[in-house]
Order: sequence, then structure tokens, then C-alpha cells
Amino acid sequence: MSSFFSKKYKDLVPYTPGEQPRDKKYIKLNTNESPFPPSKNVFRAVKNEAKNLQLYSDPESSRIRMALAKKYGVEKENVIVGNGSDEILNFAFMAFSDEDTPLVFPDISYGFYPVFAKVNNLPYEEKPLNEEFKISPDDYIKTGKTVVIANPNAPTGLALSKSDIEKIVLSNKDNIVIIDEAYVDFGAESAVPLIKKYKNLLVTQTFSKSRSMAGARLGFGIGSEEIIKDLNTLRYSTNPYNVNKMTEKAGYEALLSDDYYMKNCEIISQNRDFTIKQLRSLGFSVTDSKANFVFASHEKIDGKALYLALKERGILVRHFDKEKIQNYNRITIGTMKQMKKLIENIKEILEELK
Ligand SMILES: *Cc1c(COP(=O)(O)O)cnc(C)c1O
Repeated sequence: MSSFFSKKYKDLVPYTPGEQPRDKKYIKLNTNESPFPPSKNVFRAVKNEAKNLQLYSDPESSRIRMALAKKYGVEKENVIVGNGSDEILNFAFMAFSDEDTPLVFPDISYGFYPVFAKVNNLPYEEKPLNEEFKISPDDYIKTGKTVVIANPNAPTGLALSKSDIEKIVLSNKDNIVIIDEAYVDFGAESAVPLIKKYKNLLVTQTFSKSRSMAGARLGFGIGSEEIIKDLNTLRYSTNPYNVNKMTEKAGYEALLSDDYYMKNCEIISQNRDFTIKQLRSLGFSVTDSKANFVFASHEKIDGKALYLALKERGILVRHFDKEKIQNYNRITIGTMKQMKKLIENIKEILEELK
């Protein structure tokens, strides 16, 4: 830390992204990216759009917001886009929480939530998951706080039903409820249809996982016109050109080839169910994930040891050094070929223990 660094950040512990190693080619199952490339029209569109890079992007991102509104059955005014959904989440934390309105989220969830809270100096409470790693909806009834729930949750992959989400939204009428649906396209129920009924609901989604665009950075939020306006106040106060030209075009084209992406999501869901079965037959306990990853532990091998053994064999998974979950690994679902390789290697690792 330099002597110039503001003291308000002296205790800030930044978020640690998953490894993106360059030393050799890994089977990369650690950051929940898609194993499939973007659709061909996305590729072509980005190339074409590059010709216009001397111009600023549209600060309203009208074209893609209109396309998103059409897809999700809302109006353009209900949609905001951002540099990844991380940015939208950060805006939402800034906009809808303060000393009098703390945040509340599960103790085991997306690691960025406590970081966004701390960087913005916002108080927060963490509610423990139950013994099965599930979110108890009752913990989030009438909280008097800004509620943040990832659905499906990460890194467990477990999802709440839309009716559970509705109960939470309904009971927190005087507060904002943020539902982070980064993984919703892999099999959970979306809360987007509830937007019309409840003014206190904000749903965020991303192109990073289900639409093969993690590197382009595009996320969006859907909510009532009023709360989207609040988010825009913060966006225009920090970075009005938050979505660059190529990304906006890529996202627009991706929506035009949604069939391709939704089919990929189906393949990944099938590969996930295959992987869960295989891991369970090897003695792992695995959550009933509805996301593009599984969360697994084994009595015979420590989570960190398995992570290291796999890494040595050229397979990267995500291990979290966090007390309650340190025996687990989060494994991104890739192609069937990758999953078979993973299972093969795990079998060998377990054999070597004997
Ligand atoms: C990946 C992820 C996000 C955001 O990803 P972006 O790439 O910024 O859109 C948000 N929430 C959860 C739970 C995630 O796993």
C-alpha cells in the first residue's frame, strides 16, 4: 500500500477472481465460463463494429435494451445494461443501501457481495445457509434490509422457487430485493415476471455464462422504471459509456441467435446431470445444482488436496478457503469430453489414495 492510499480503504480486501493461468493449457473448469464459442453472427458483428471504434458508444444502449425488453416481456425503461452484471450489482448496492438500510445476504454466496458492501462502506448481515446448504426463505421475511440473493446460489447451485422469491419480495415491500440470476438459464425459475407486480424487485442477469460472452463484459438489470432510473443516476455519475460499442453489438446479435445459446444451455444441463451421477457413484456428496457447475466433496480426500491433484493433471477447478466449505470444490460444467476426462482423472486420484 502506498502512503497516498486513502485511509478509508486501508482494510479493504479485494475480491479474488478465479485463476486465469497462462503457464499451460488447462481444462478450465474454475470460473463458470461456457465451453462453447459465441455464435457466428456475433463474431462477424464484432469485426464490423470495430470499424466504428473512433466513435463513443450509445450512452443509452438503446438497441440492446430494446431487444432485451422484447425478449423478457418488459419495456425498455425497465432495463439497464452494464459492464458485466457485477457493475449493475455494485450500482444497486450503492443506490439501495446506507447506514439505516443495511444489506442482508447468505453467508455462503457470491464472494463479491461483501466486497461491494465494504468498498461502499455499507453495513451488512450474513445469514447462514441451513445444514443442507440451502437458503431458508424464512430468514428473509420482513428484514427491513436490502436483500440480495443469488438464484441459483453460488457456489452451491441450489435454487429457490419463484413462489419463495415472491414471498420474500412481498414481505419486504419497503425495501429493495435484488435477485442475482447469473445462472438462471441452466434450469432455475426466473423472477423476471414478478417485475410487473412489485416495484421493489431488481433482477440481474449476465451474458457471461449462458451466452458465451464472459470476456465481452455484458450484464443487465430488470426492474421498475423508478429503480432503473436510480441506477442510471449512478451510472451517469460514474461511467455513461459503460458498455462499449463492440460488446453492445455482440449482445444484440447474441439475442438474435438465442436458439443457439439456449441449446447450449440444454447440453450443459445434461452434462451437469451426467457429472452429478458419476461423482455420486464415486462417493462424492454433490448438491442438486441448477447451474453450470457442481459443488462436490468427498470423505476420503480433502477439498484442497483434490483441487491440487487435479491442477497437477491439467484440470482447474475452484476451491474456496472458507471454513464451512473447504472440503468442497466447485466444478464448472464443460463439454461431455471434458467431463469424462474429469471423471477419469478423479477415479485415478481416488485409486492412488488406496
Ligand atoms: C459470474 C457471476 C456474476 C457476474 O458476472 P459478470 O461477468 O460480471 O456478469 C454475478 N453473480 C454471480 C453469482 C456470478 O457467479
